Amino acid sequence: MEKILNYIGGELIPPASAQFMDNFDPSTGAVYSQIPDSDERDVKRAVDAAKEAFPKWSQTPAEDRFKILMRLVDLIERDLDALALAESIDNGKTVALATKLDIPRAASNFRFYATAAMHTANESHDTALNGGTALNYTLRQPLGVVGCISPWNLPLYLFTWKIAPAIAAGCTIVAKPSEITPMTAYLLSELCIEAGLPPGVFNIVHGTGPKVGSAIVAHKDVKAISFTGGTKTGEEIARTAAPLFKKLSLELGGKNPNIIFADCNYDEMLAETGRAAFANQGEICLCGSRIFVERPMYEQFKRDFVEQVSALKVGDPLEADTDVGAIVSKQHFDKIISYIGLAKEEGGTILTGGKQVHLEGRCADGWFIEPTVIEGLKHDCRTNQEEIFGPVATIQPFDTEEEVLGYANSVRYGLSSTIWTENLSRAHRMAAKIESGIVWVNCWLLRDLRTPFGGVKDSGVGREGGFEALRFFTEEKNVCVKL
Ligand code: NAD
Repeated sequence: MEKILNYIGGELIPPASAQFMDNFDPSTGAVYSQIPDSDERDVKRAVDAAKEAFPKWSQTPAEDRFKILMRLVDLIERDLDALALAESIDNGKTVALATKLDIPRAASNFRFYATAAMHTANESHDTALNGGTALNYTLRQPLGVVGCISPWNLPLYLFTWKIAPAIAAGCTIVAKPSEITPMTAYLLSELCIEAGLPPGVFNIVHGTGPKVGSAIVAHKDVKAISFTGGTKTGEEIARTAAPLFKKLSLELGGKNPNIIFADCNYDEMLAETGRAAFANQGEICLCGSRIFVERPMYEQFKRDFVEQVSALKVGDPLEADTDVGAIVSKQHFDKIISYIGLAKEEGGTILTGGKQVHLEGRCADGWFIEPTVIEGLKHDCRTNQEEIFGPVATIQPFDTEEEVLGYANSVRYGLSSTIWTENLSRAHRMAAKIESGIVWVNCWLLRDLRTPFGGVKDSGVGREGGFEALRFFTEEKNVCVKL
């Protein structure tokens, strides 16, 4: 059985403990590889390697960093099919989605920050004095060793979203992918060796959050933590990192509203609303799982949406015509099923779905759930307030803008939102008042990597994307020269 290895100081090595954990294929429920059960000894070794690499890497000309990152882009594109297959087996997502979304985006992340490294500039300020002048200029110096910790839902996509700007900024990295989906990070480490990334610039320590993640966060020589994952884990990380005065970027959970006005472009809205709720089995932090529909359109929407959702094919993620793949783990499967039970207890009516799917053949023991649409729940019940992170969406009618804004903003989260309307003034009015870091009008998950990405309220602190991410991995220093 394949053994995943840590990537430390440019080498692929087993963990200090020599212990490995089982890694599951969610579509079969079977163990298919082994992942290092690393601990603080491996983290220390990785931090030491990153510290050693930092002086040289931080002084490497931007053009050389650009060339290495672009080599990685070429290698990811060369291995697109193999990486997509690996992502699908590890996570349960369809191979079609991994081929179209996850892996191309990982290549784009490196391409984007390779070029950004060539375009950074620092400010200078001329300061007029009585009888002279001074020149202030700002240096943006790479922070040093940084920690990057990522979740299981978009494994390589989100991992590289942190790694690429950190490398481009001249930092060196100790990173941990989710222990639930470690495979593509491991494959990436092989590609980094092939691309000629200098040893120690990027290190990967595989293992659990409590053992490896918390050791990265607590290590005194790790200057910043870029974390994507659950809000509860984000709280724990902040508790450890804040007294150590580390820079923190926290991309956390969401419970995103999708607000549909009766004047919208109906066909576009219907197609995108299905994708927004059920893409990647609903396991995207940006998924629109609370759907609010203006009353005049509610019955028509309900009929068409339920018909569309019940036609989605739940099946083997490796088959080309599968729409909904497997749920990432048994534990997460149980959580989603329990929330469907809760929705019923809270008075919800299941309009379609609501049950486990039992497939035949290869996937007989896999973890599959029918895409589920629920109505009849109030906006403030637990089903509508807590993040389920699975193929479960609720629908609810509304009458006025004020009413639906109240529903949308009633949750502790504020990551993204979607508004469907052809009324321009209303779109802008709603966008300004809605409490979320990202607002999509008449679209969903339309991404431009230059834009600030992140949430408000309990969805996080800080922004990724664009130059924001490069700035996060640097420290500003102002130099004032009296002339
Ligand atoms: P998680 O918080 O359980 O784990 C995320 C990562 O943190 C994993 O690598 C895990 O091993 C590690 N970790 C766990 N405990 C830790 C600790 N004490 N110290 C340091 N690291 C620790 O999240 P998950 O279940 O992997 O992912 C799902 C969550 O991620 C959802 O809440 C989802 O909304 C969120 N998410 C947010 C975004 C975003 O951009 N805002 C994107 C994707 C996912």
